[in-house]
Amino acid sequence: MQIDRTTTPELPVGDARWNAILTRDRSMDGRFVYGTLSTGIFCRPSCSSRPTRPESVVFHETAEAAREGGFRACLRCYPDQPET
Ligand SMILES: [Zn+2]
Repeated sequence: MQIDRTTTPELPVGDARWNAILTRDRSMDGRFVYGTLSTGIFCRPSCSSRPTRPESVVFHETAEAAREGGFRACLRCYPDQPET
């Protein structure tokens, strides 16, 4: 018997964007946003909200794309506002 691992979703661990979230890298703000499937909210990489689990994160290049994907802007980091 072999365990079938082919159904395991590929995690973004090791992805530069996921690392930016973990380190709250402000230099990545404006480069992408990430949506959390469990909450339906999207954030900037530097958002102070606790990083979610990688398997529930979806990356979007822009806030517009995230909104079109059905996500709402986070009320902490205002990912749909221009850079300050
Ligand atoms: Zn946020």
